[in-house]
Amino acid sequence: MKKYLSTLLCGLLLNAAALAHGDVELGPNGGRILEFSKNESMHGEVVVKDGNFHIALLDKGLLPVVLGEQELTATSGDRAKPEKLVVEKKAGEFVVPAVKAGEWVVFQFRESAKAKPVTARMQYDLTVCGGCKEPHWICKCAANEAKAKAAKSKK
Ligand SMILES: [Zn+2]
Repeated sequence: MKKYLSTLLCGLLLNAAALAHGDVELGPNGGRILEFSKNESMHGEVVVKDGNFHIALLDKGLLPVVLGEQELTATSGDRAKPEKLVVEKKAGEFVVPAVKAGEWVVFQFRESAKAKPVTARMQYDLTVCGGCKEPHWICKCAANEAKAKAAKSKK
């Protein structure tokens, strides 16, 4: 029984670590990549400037996409008390006031006002990652791991 418990606990801890690191994808500007499509054809890259999230659109190959009729909504806070954030379009990017550290943001992206929304979630986790010393929301561990793997396979 004791052995079973420790195995279970270990599994849970591994799982938590995988979740914390595995799902962070970084963009060409070092920002957090959000999936804005069902087929990886559209992404958002979130960076923070002057207390705002700036979200640039990127295509399949993470190249810039011109911001036109695409729409974005953003909601923060917990489920019991969701708060709609003001989304503006400025200089080819979406601009949203940054949330408090640790809060989740739910983004809904539409190709146009009539298109079906795609939902992307992000936790603005500013605690520092032990692996890469970056805040968790832009943790570089997954990217570093991928780089290391690519370097290894080249040899
Ligand atoms: Zn990390």
